[in-house]
Amino acid sequence: MLSYRHSFHAGNHADVLKHFVTIQLLNYLGQKDTAYTYIDTHAGAGLYALDGGYATKNAEFETGIGPLWDRKDLPAPLAEYVDLVKELNPSGKMRYYPGSPYCAEKILREQDRLRLFELHPSEIKILAENFRKLDAHSAAQGHRPTTRGKRVIITAGDGFEGLKALLPPPSRRGLVLIDPPYEVKDDYRRVKDTVEDGLKRFPTGVFAVWYPVLNRPDSKQLPERLKRLQANGWLNVTLSVSGPSPDGFGLHSSGMFIINPPWTLEASLREVMPYLVKVLGRDAGASFSIDAGETQTIGRARKK
Ligand code: SAM
Repeated sequence: MLSYRHSFHAGNHADVLKHFVTIQLLNYLGQKDTAYTYIDTHAGAGLYALDGGYATKNAEFETGIGPLWDRKDLPAPLAEYVDLVKELNPSGKMRYYPGSPYCAEKILREQDRLRLFELHPSEIKILAENFRKLDAHSAAQGHRPTTRGKRVIITAGDGFEGLKALLPPPSRRGLVLIDPPYEVKDDYRRVKDTVEDGLKRFPTGVFAVWYPVLNRPDSKQLPERLKRLQANGWLNVTLSVSGPSPDGFGLHSSGMFIINPPWTLEASLREVMPYLVKVLGRDAGASFSIDAGETQTIGRARKK
């Protein structure tokens, strides 16, 4: 039974971390002319309204993208992300938030490929409809459809399974984003197994895994298990916007684990993460961590 709907959480601090890092990874891949493939194993709906429906229920975006919206002092790599969200909101009012498929669609070039998987029967319909509207919008502006030919393929199904047939991508260049809801405990095991299998098929691929940092064994073990996989390197970044709540509810911390990261990523993170702690941090428990390779390379910045 799938009950998770990402629209409740769109634009929260976890999305800020995930989408900022994903954009960095895509921009790096785009530095070479050779095509690359972006695969989103858990795509969600692609685009979320912030001024109505589920997103307004807890208004999580107000403590995520919200505080970044009017900042004039954004570090350059973070500005790339905020600018992308702003492009979607030409009126200047924060009304829509891009999911990972939309972020990728904005960055990928003609020659690049998007492969999107979504299992939820309602989310997949909304995702397909959102991409159909993007095409209609492009056509109205006299541009070619964004989903033209084989550029975008949206598949209703299990992304963990579907990924296997896509690796390695034709140009041997690509990013795989794995972003399950972790509603079921099995997601932790499947993430590790999927990356392990993916690395066998595509050893030079970039794999990015989002995960919640929770006080439970499977959440704590996931990054440790990913560190042990055979790859050229890894980078693990976490953002905590507060200390844990007394009742243990609510997501206050999440991480992105990147396998085969571009060499430029760590410097961008060192620039941006202290800023995110300063702007999104809610109490003295706010912090970040960055580990890379096999050693912890950086300490923690705490909100004063
Ligand atoms: N990646 C999206 C983004 O950043 O905008 C958010 C994805 S959301 C956290 C997780 C999504 O995975 C949900 O829409 C859920 O329906 C979907 N899902 C759950 N299990 C899945 C599976 N095995 N394969 C594909 N999608 C799945």
